[in-house]
Amino acid sequence: MKCCRGEHFSDGELRRFGNIELSPSSGVLNYGQGLYEGLKAYRKKDGNILLFRPEENAMRIQRGADRMCMPCPPVQQFVEAVKATVLANHRWIPPAGKGSLYIRPLLMGSGAVLGLAPAPEYTFLIYVSPVGNYFKEGLAPINLLVEAEIHRATPGGTGGIKCIGNYAAVLKAQAAAKAKDFTDVLYLDSIRKKYLEEVSSCNVFVVKDNVISTPAVEGTILPGITRKSIMDVARSQGFKVEERLIAVDELLEADEVFCTGTAVVVSPGELYGNNGVGPVSQQVYSTLINLQMGLTEDTMGWTLELKLK
Ligand code: PMP
Repeated sequence: MKCCRGEHFSDGELRRFGNIELSPSSGVLNYGQGLYEGLKAYRKKDGNILLFRPEENAMRIQRGADRMCMPCPPVQQFVEAVKATVLANHRWIPPAGKGSLYIRPLLMGSGAVLGLAPAPEYTFLIYVSPVGNYFKEGLAPINLLVEAEIHRATPGGTGGIKCIGNYAAVLKAQAAAKAKDFTDVLYLDSIRKKYLEEVSSCNVFVVKDNVISTPAVEGTILPGITRKSIMDVARSQGFKVEERLIAVDELLEADEVFCTGTAVVVSPGELYGNNGVGPVSQQVYSTLINLQMGLTEDTMGWTLELKLK
């Protein structure tokens, strides 16, 4: 894999990035027993590094590990492993304002298991890669195809955790949308095929008359850390924020729609007759990205600064 650099963290130590050995009968290869996380490190103007709420990723992977029958590093150990990996790779973090270092922790059933059961051994590793904008459009509006037939998650399934199978489930819909020149897919609920869920790798928000709404977390969407942060930012700026069922028809009347995620940060979606970046999307984006990049004071206490000696 070419995009990854430097050192990766694996089973408690830093190693030179490279392929790993895996049994053909490992739990992850046969039964999809795998989870991942995604974080970003930004370089500040003074050269130091900022992480954003890494303990939230640590807690989310714990919940996922429970659902996937795997043990998981405790919160503080997870955060320390992320810090060590970022510091070991700090030369790959782009200069301030020029991108970020994407951090990908993975937890998988690496032990051999033939009959269906949790693997007897697990591997926790972290690799990194410098990144720019996730969608080539940056903050410009993205174009989403509403998908009612292919679902990324069903009630009682694994949609609420970041397990690898959720991403396999969206590949076909995403490829079909891209072939039609859409940027990505907006999924609807699998029962009534009517309520917004999320995009392949981000959460969705709808703005109407300065009220910001997002689908409620009920097990079929990923509880995004950016989603949670944007709700707090918006409330602190005086917006009314609702978590509720949002019918797809509401998009026809909405003032703005935007997506949130670690990779995309905030990406406005195109709406009929409104292809600009709406003022609410712009405001919450600027507040969050400035905080993540260390351009404004972190009054929320969300950033973790790593100082280079
Ligand atoms: N939904 C899905 C399906 C995702 O893959 C992601 C990216 N992790 C998100 C939402 C956004 O989550 P976060 O803000 O924690 O990155």
